[in-house]
Amino acid sequence: MTVKLFYSDPYLREVRAKVEKVEVKDSKVRLKLDRTIFYPEGGGQPGDIGIIKGDGFRVEVEKVEGKEDIWHEGKVKGRIPEVGEEVELELDWEWRYENMRQHTGQHILSAILKKMYNSDTTGFQIFPEYNKIEINFDEELTWEHILAAEFEANEVVWDNLPVEVEEYEELPEEVHNALRKDLSKNVQGKIRLVKIPNIDLIPCGGTHVKNTGEVGFIKVLNFYKKTKNIWRIEFACGYRALIYLDKLLEDYWRSLNEMSNKNRPLLERMQEFKQLLEELEGEKDQLRKELWEWKSKALLQEAEEINGIKIISFLDTWEMKDAQAFIVYFIEKNPKTVVLIVGSNYLLFAKNKNIERISMNELMREVLNEVGGGGGGSEILARGGGFKRSPEEVIEIAKKFLKEKIKED
Ligand SMILES: [Zn+2]
Repeated sequence: MTVKLFYSDPYLREVRAKVEKVEVKDSKVRLKLDRTIFYPEGGGQPGDIGIIKGDGFRVEVEKVEGKEDIWHEGKVKGRIPEVGEEVELELDWEWRYENMRQHTGQHILSAILKKMYNSDTTGFQIFPEYNKIEINFDEELTWEHILAAEFEANEVVWDNLPVEVEEYEELPEEVHNALRKDLSKNVQGKIRLVKIPNIDLIPCGGTHVKNTGEVGFIKVLNFYKKTKNIWRIEFACGYRALIYLDKLLEDYWRSLNEMSNKNRPLLERMQEFKQLLEELEGEKDQLRKELWEWKSKALLQEAEEINGIKIISFLDTWEMKDAQAFIVYFIEKNPKTVVLIVGSNYLLFAKNKNIERISMNELMREVLNEVGGGGGGSEILARGGGFKRSPEEVIEIAKKFLKEKIKED
């Protein structure tokens, strides 16, 4: 069993220990030590990172796991450590201390949510940039609820209350009754309670700061519904909260700076921007219609007429969706017309619905048989693509087949 020094003194950053077991895995080693300051991942708190070094080697610890025996895994530089030798352990203190601040902040926030709304915290996870809890809350959770709880939680931070750890072999009934959350069935050995006097009492196996003031402040960043009565709350504490807000503010000011009017609030500028965009869209539609009208006139003048049906065909550089919008507009306005458009990688055939018998779908099938590719559609409109011949050849073939159909008719 590894002695867990992070419990007796969570502020211990360096210590010496003895190697008890060694495993080698590719370029990594796994070390089991007689004692450790490295916290193994668990209870929502990530494992510690840091360095284990000895005479002739240095392990960059990236993963720590285990309950009784604690294993430290990482890349090794130099020789492989040996069983029985002494090593020096050095925590990445910034990482660990921030995790302690986040974890303690979570106890405070969860305690306040329980006190104010009788919400239980059912999940907790620390991520590198923020933390997440899940709570039950039967109604609609709002920013009003959240901000009221956040304010109370920060009052606890600023009151500089002690965070105490009590260990029990067995819980006295009055202590058991005072717990915010019942003991997990997995707890073996000593029962470890974390207490903030008059605020919170809960069994916990993580590491915490010794005074609520060290949390710095607690900031809720976002919240959303996960299931019917389970809500997720994202928050950050201490230095991570500051970093998060700095990034958010940078994003805010840079966004505002992109606007022609750079005065707050950004929301008003965005609304103006949206309105402008809608106006421009309207103008664009108007211009497009005018362009289509001109184009239609020119196309009708060049049209070839057989048996009273006008054939309009052209190659185009439009995107397919634009060509389709035009073709639909055109055939609706012009009776007795058939339009064939070939782009670099598509074919579009359409006819005015007054023309009977000739099917665009059928014409498409015949043309594709000749030029390769695939497609389909209806009597009125058909689309295809993937042809193996040049667009110039394809449009000539399509025209030829169409004329034959009109003449047969
Ligand atoms: Zn805890």
